[in-house]
Amino acid sequence: MKTSEAADPAAILRQLPSVDELLHTDTGIGLLPETGPRRLTRLARTALERLRQIVQNMVAESAEQGVNYSKEILLKDAQRFLMEEWQAEQRSAQRRVINATGVVIHTNLGRAPLSENARRAIAEEAAGYCTLEYEMETGKRGRRGQRAEDLLKELTGAESALIVNNCAAAAFLVLTVLAAPGEVIISRGELVEIGGDFRVPDVLARSGAVLREVGTTNRTKLSDYAKATNDSTRMILKVHPSNYRIVGFTESPAVSDLAELAHSRGLLFYEDAGSGALIDLAGLGLSDEPVIGASIRAGVDVVTFSGDKLLGGPQAGLIVGKAEIIERIRNHPLYRALRVDKLAYAALQETLEAHVRGTALDEIPVLRMLAMSREQIEQRTAIFSVRLREKVAEDSGLQFEIIGGNSVVGGGSAPAVYPETVLLVLTQAKFPGVRLEQYLRTSNPPVITRIVDNKVVIDLRTVTESEENELLEILARHAEARTR
Ligand SMILES: *Cc1c(COP(=O)(O)O)cnc(C)c1O
Repeated sequence: MKTSEAADPAAILRQLPSVDELLHTDTGIGLLPETGPRRLTRLARTALERLRQIVQNMVAESAEQGVNYSKEILLKDAQRFLMEEWQAEQRSAQRRVINATGVVIHTNLGRAPLSENARRAIAEEAAGYCTLEYEMETGKRGRRGQRAEDLLKELTGAESALIVNNCAAAAFLVLTVLAAPGEVIISRGELVEIGGDFRVPDVLARSGAVLREVGTTNRTKLSDYAKATNDSTRMILKVHPSNYRIVGFTESPAVSDLAELAHSRGLLFYEDAGSGALIDLAGLGLSDEPVIGASIRAGVDVVTFSGDKLLGGPQAGLIVGKAEIIERIRNHPLYRALRVDKLAYAALQETLEAHVRGTALDEIPVLRMLAMSREQIEQRTAIFSVRLREKVAEDSGLQFEIIGGNSVVGGGSAPAVYPETVLLVLTQAKFPGVRLEQYLRTSNPPVITRIVDNKVVIDLRTVTESEENELLEILARHAEARTR
């Protein structure tokens, strides 16, 4: 930035380019089609203000040493700052990332990645005009979500189904329509915070229903529920604690016993199952997750669960249960405010189709990733590291080793299950792990990794095979840059 001509602080500041000059540089002209004129002017002002501050500080520091800044140099710096401002704004945009963390249902990274069929359905069947509320046979108005609802009925054995924006909305709606302003009995052990701002008691209380807590944190008996019923009681609620487990001296009544108690007192029995598996996932080590069909068979009147946890679909709140109850919810004005859009229906429909076909474990990414054995991941990681070795020069200093470790289910599901995996540990001479993590995070596409003991670790469980190639290129580029 410095040249050694005579120093005159005021003269130097006068050399700063104007907004107009900056807009007419190659950088300004090049950015214009993407930014549009108004935004480009705003970015240019910010860039020039930054430059002015820096120049002012430098002039103040080095006035006696006879330092000057030429107009050309300042214009170059201004262009660089303009580009940086634009890039910084774009970084806050939502975009695709490679999830190399091994956290399968990663809430911050969009929970469940959609299946190929669900992606295709969004782009080809839903993005334009579609039959959202149109009945093909009659050419008249149809019911939105009919097909997805029918599939849910088939999968759970419930009489009826309804789809809203997410499971928190579903719980709120169920209590508003079916319980408020009456009382809802809930075990103290189930008044939990599920993460992502969902505190069971907060949302439930907002509905206008009154929560009647029974039992203790670790033990609640059927008789505790029975004793709490009175004339105002409308409902017994069971909440799956999701990301939270009490182990040891615990007790809670069987779902079928609670159903019997509720019905003998003329009450509704509602279960918020949370992640809610449609098929038994015990084979994947997930034996604690409620299977929705089993709850329906045990006599639960209405069950809610998320679309983007173990179901592996888009964000949605799924409500299944008795036909008369579902119709009451459907006819409530609040349903209109919580309904989902055509993109969500398209993705959900395809996700449910895979479950009905019996191909969910192969087709649905979340389930496929969870089903991957340690041996499979080990084999992929070994091949990946050989390919990386071929691409990366010895003198880059990039080292890698393969160690045993654990993946995470995530999304508040199966908190005690850590599927065995292998991890690729990356280290580089004179380059701290946090800097490598940052490099990967800011690459294109961003690669999100875990840091363990100040080292970057990669778990290929959550990386698809096509993303492996991109990851390889990004690591090779990094290594090459470090050898230059
Ligand atoms: C995750 C979860 C919710 C919230 O679901 P969203 O779809 O994120 O709104 C509610 N209840 C339970 C039991 C959960 O596990």
